[in-house]
Amino acid sequence: MKFRFTRVLQFNFEDEEGYGVDTITGKDIVKIAVEAGANTIAFFARDAWGRAFYNSKIARKISKLGERDLLKEIVEEASKHGIYVIPMIGHTTNPELFSKHPDWAQRHLNGEIITMDTDPSSLPRENFTWPLMCLNSPFLDHVLKEVEEVLRYGVSGIFLDSFRYMPDVDRACFCEWCRKKFSEENGFELPGEEDLRSEAYRKSFMWRLNVNIRSLKVISEKLRKINSGAILVYNNHPLAWRGRANSISELSRDFVDVFFAECSETDYQPPGFIAEMVKLTRAITGKPVWATRNSFHMALTPRQTTDIAIRQGLREAFAGGGWPIYLMFASTFMNKQDLMHVKRVYEEIGRLEEYMFDAEPLPYVGIVFSNRSRDWSGEKMSPHITDSFRGFYYALLLEGFPVNYISDTCLDEGKFREYKSIILANTWSISTSGIKYIKKYYSKNGGMIATYKAGILDEHGKELEETRLEEVLGLKYRSLIRSNWSYIRVVKNHPVTDSIEGKFILWGDFDREFVTRRTPPEIGWHVYAINDHADVLGYVTLTNRDFGNEYENGRSPPPPVINTSIPGITVGDKWVYFSGQPGRIFWRTGSPQIRKLIINSIRYVAGPPPVKVKSYGFTELEAYRRNGQILIHLLNHTYPDRIIVRGNTAINTMWTSTSESVHPPTKITPLTDTKIYVRDFEISKVYEPLSNRTYEYRQRRNIVEIDIPRLDEYMFLVLDLR
Ligand SMILES: [Zn+2]
Repeated sequence: MKFRFTRVLQFNFEDEEGYGVDTITGKDIVKIAVEAGANTIAFFARDAWGRAFYNSKIARKISKLGERDLLKEIVEEASKHGIYVIPMIGHTTNPELFSKHPDWAQRHLNGEIITMDTDPSSLPRENFTWPLMCLNSPFLDHVLKEVEEVLRYGVSGIFLDSFRYMPDVDRACFCEWCRKKFSEENGFELPGEEDLRSEAYRKSFMWRLNVNIRSLKVISEKLRKINSGAILVYNNHPLAWRGRANSISELSRDFVDVFFAECSETDYQPPGFIAEMVKLTRAITGKPVWATRNSFHMALTPRQTTDIAIRQGLREAFAGGGWPIYLMFASTFMNKQDLMHVKRVYEEIGRLEEYMFDAEPLPYVGIVFSNRSRDWSGEKMSPHITDSFRGFYYALLLEGFPVNYISDTCLDEGKFREYKSIILANTWSISTSGIKYIKKYYSKNGGMIATYKAGILDEHGKELEETRLEEVLGLKYRSLIRSNWSYIRVVKNHPVTDSIEGKFILWGDFDREFVTRRTPPEIGWHVYAINDHADVLGYVTLTNRDFGNEYENGRSPPPPVINTSIPGITVGDKWVYFSGQPGRIFWRTGSPQIRKLIINSIRYVAGPPPVKVKSYGFTELEAYRRNGQILIHLLNHTYPDRIIVRGNTAINTMWTSTSESVHPPTKITPLTDTKIYVRDFEISKVYEPLSNRTYEYRQRRNIVEIDIPRLDEYMFLVLDLR
């Protein structure tokens, strides 16, 4: 069946005093949806204060509604316009419920309540506002009753926010319910300290992830029992919650119908971020994905952001293979906002969505976004592991190449065969079945790039004496080189080192906070691994100090003085191994030399891309295939005035001006003379459904060259194959 919930308006009241509740009616909200061209409305039927927006038997109705029932108002009005309604319930903060059942709240190891309040670290509020409820307490039964209540209104499904039940000790729940349940099920007490070498700790980590998954399963079963046609939506929020929500989503994919990639970080993230999060969520779940472009800038809810930020953000969700949500709050509405930009994009999507229902990403390079590797690396290393994946992703995106993530599950099940190459960028954890499929894939001519500690852990987070890569690439593990700064000395001319031979490539970076350390953890480290039959293109050169003196004494890198014979870049037939973390350093610093190494390596192991875009700006290419067609989205991200300023430390009281500016773009630079190259496909027609224009192309041997004389904000092209 075709996916129906393709253009979403999310409208939220989330104010303590119920700002706007007494003036904004269900009719008003539906009117916004109609004006915006949305076909689905999502909104809080029960808010984070624990108050219902409908006549509930289990929750107090927000008093500003008086006799009104907002859920009923919305459902009745929406049905007149053929708009679906999916209420949000089950919010894990619930002060009303907490006041009756304080023992249902999540508690830190020291017994303090775990909250969802955002406070400056040295300025906590006097009394907490939003306590988080525990999924192991009867709170879950309360959520099930909410499911029952809202489904009676004839809604199309329910929408759950992230549960915020974290597996990491510093954020984990140690309430009586959890302690009791854990010891009953496992026969020992919940460990109170992160220790990844301990099997008991790793077990408790998985157990806590499973508490989320089991809860989703229970809710899903309840939902289906009442209405088998209703859908369950879960907020994945891929960049938040240390990425643990990604693990929860990957493991609960069978119970959830739609995953919501909340993209609240987009204003501080690179262009292409929303599409990236959609592609990630699709890769780990295989389910339809919703993604947000908020109506506002950062957290400044009452102020609408720029037209271009809204349009490109919504389009990114679609180009990434998902479906956009436009989120607005009551304060944004009260401030009179302009819906023209949303309408324009939602009209485009309305006309194009038909193409995307059965479209599959065009496979070229699959970067393993390994939730397990990130989780098993511990609290300190977690974000840095993800940086390795994202560095490769953005190097390819900036190059105009098609790029996709693949998941641990995808490796475990061998579902990556169509990719020309896979990238194991610091993929610490590889499963027994994963490596079996990788071996088979490699023997059938699949390419591979691996870096640093790829394969040092099994799927359960247990450290191995020999890395999994030994089985496939014959790389023998010797030891770990712990150096805060290092270099790679490129000694050999090869397609991988093209144009960088003879250089010392700086392999490190200073810490941006510069409060507790000079360099981020493990940034300059290397794995000393050898394969006597492979070609070594570069060696590790070490430094003899913790920091250098040039320019900024204490922050800059020390010079390369100790040449070693430790291989830094090793290449074999269709594989490249980096002893350090090129993806991570590129993500942090944009090093052009490392970018070159990444792109050269990809060309070497995967061959040239099947589709590529060349432009004088930053053009995001998203390529898909469906029966007899290739589909191409081009998003022009050439934003001349998107300003993001950041300092070189977290605390600097000596600057003349602050370093905190974040501006949304107000325009794009249109691009002339953009070209798309398509390889190994025969094409009979190139056209743009939105304008009904056809495009000129030239076929030279196996390469088709398509001219795009002018690229404005966005273009969607269909290539009919012969
Ligand atoms: Zn608990």
